[in-house]
Amino acid sequence: MRVKGLTVFAVSLGLLSMAGSLWAGESPGNPTSPPVYVSFWFDTEDYLLPASDDAAQRLADIFTSQGVQATFKVVGEKARVLRDRGRADVIAALRRHDIGYHTDFHSVHPTPSEYSRDLDWNDGVAEFIRREGRGFEDVRTIFGMDPSCYGQPGSSWTPESYAALRRWNIPVYLDDASQVGLDGRPFWYCGVLNAFNLSGFTTRCTLQNDATLDEGCKQFEQVRQRAAREGGGLISIYYHPCEWVHEKFWDGVNFSKGSNPPREQWQKPPQKPAEATERQFALFARYLEYARTRPNVRLVTAREIATLYPDGAYQRSFTREEIAAMARALAREVSFVRLGDRTVSAAEGVSVLAQAVVGFDKSRQIPESLKPKFFFGPTFEAGETIEQGEFAWNDWVKACRDCLTATEKLSRLPSVMRVGGKVVAPVDFAATLATAVGSIAETGRAPKAVRLVKGNWTVAKYVADDSPRLWGWVIFPDNFSAPKMMALARLQSWTLKPAILSAAQPKTAAPAASALSEKQKIAALLGVIEKSPDIFVRNDEEYPSPAARQLMEYKLKAAGDGIKTANDFIEQVATRSKTTGRVYMVKMSDGRTTESARWLRARLAEIERGGR
Ligand SMILES: [Zn+2]
Repeated sequence: MRVKGLTVFAVSLGLLSMAGSLWAGESPGNPTSPPVYVSFWFDTEDYLLPASDDAAQRLADIFTSQGVQATFKVVGEKARVLRDRGRADVIAALRRHDIGYHTDFHSVHPTPSEYSRDLDWNDGVAEFIRREGRGFEDVRTIFGMDPSCYGQPGSSWTPESYAALRRWNIPVYLDDASQVGLDGRPFWYCGVLNAFNLSGFTTRCTLQNDATLDEGCKQFEQVRQRAAREGGGLISIYYHPCEWVHEKFWDGVNFSKGSNPPREQWQKPPQKPAEATERQFALFARYLEYARTRPNVRLVTAREIATLYPDGAYQRSFTREEIAAMARALAREVSFVRLGDRTVSAAEGVSVLAQAVVGFDKSRQIPESLKPKFFFGPTFEAGETIEQGEFAWNDWVKACRDCLTATEKLSRLPSVMRVGGKVVAPVDFAATLATAVGSIAETGRAPKAVRLVKGNWTVAKYVADDSPRLWGWVIFPDNFSAPKMMALARLQSWTLKPAILSAAQPKTAAPAASALSEKQKIAALLGVIEKSPDIFVRNDEEYPSPAARQLMEYKLKAAGDGIKTANDFIEQVATRSKTTGRVYMVKMSDGRTTESARWLRARLAEIERGGR
């Protein structure tokens, strides 16, 4: 089926020779070749031109009719407009796909970088939540789905948005700009998975005519082949539904270069002729068909991306050997560390190594296994710090203890460290700590004194310096800059590390959701609960996964015939305590907490989408 469809299509595009040469090296869907994941996403933002509502629906239907899913990142005002225009049909069409969030008003000034540019970290986080929280709730309520991802409007990026995403349990940052990036691959930053700045793995087809389609398909194929050569990976393709219907972007028409007219003066953008819109949809349907039928391509939503790249650092403990390796790496440079199939950020490294020192002080042994705790990077540049010095071992142990207490309390690395009355920069603290643990691992003894080691903070290079090229979006006022905000962003590079594609990918497609009975879905949920590293909390009592499963099974039995569907199970068995009425919570292994019902609904969605 796939081969036939592709051949017919290749002929129609005049691409047969290219396709032919490919078949020689690769067979379609060869289970031994790594899958290449492709994410199509749409910034669904124009709330002025009603025709863009239809465009979003049409795109959703194109994906639905081809049996694949896209991700629609919806603006809060767009969601409200769809509701108020009575477009339940559009909402229903988009709900068959994945829903993300794309700010409350998108281009109305001030946009996130504009209101954050001069704020301190805590104020920036609070301001982002204050301004964008309403839209997040509206998208969630109107679509009846927890948004799976967020991305900034234009290039109006802020580091503080990540802290809000963690609070809102939005697992993925999905967008494209250049403030932070890791060689075009997915990465972790501020404890959020980023499918962001995937330069080299982002492609797009100009939907003008057969020739531009041909060119777009060729480009897709080049990117796909590069990803396949590298063992798979993620390709990002994005559009805006309004591009199918407008002549000019809605926001350029109203908000360019800082202009901010009152609502009653907002202008609808000019609309393109209907036949141009039709041609563009037809070309897009062919582009999608081409992309999704290439060998080993699997389309994924943002929600699925989150499951493809689990954070291995929190899935199991680090062994003594791994702790020693972490110490050696951080002593050389303060950056992320790769350990087998896992990565740790510099901040996570400090978390583990400080625990190692405290543990060694207690038992004269580096603990057999340790887990990191998530925390953000420092939130201001250390001022005057010492350039050299030596600390008594006891002072050093106390500093490590203080560091752990402070990170626990503040949820971030302190911006300055105090060791034996001296002020130490975090980067030097990390290098000194790593050197000390490295020496303990080698000799089995605590050093008599710990000498300050100047740290080499190389990870900061993955965050861009403030420059006009970061702020090229049409709505920014001329000469917009945000040096203070980008300095904060650089401090958060302590949390940056590569995201590793999970090796545990199903080789063959999992059974479709319709193939699972409700009973099987409940059984699958119980299985997920049992295997999860996350901890259920019932009336303040912690239930690690096997105990959580026992509890749910017990309640399920007690509920008897009342539970017919997986949703019944979530709502009636797994949402709250019968005795106290209090809601069950889940402490996730990366430090976040969420309601059990929300956690389970996300797992159910994964199960229904085929177990990925
Ligand atoms: Zn946008």
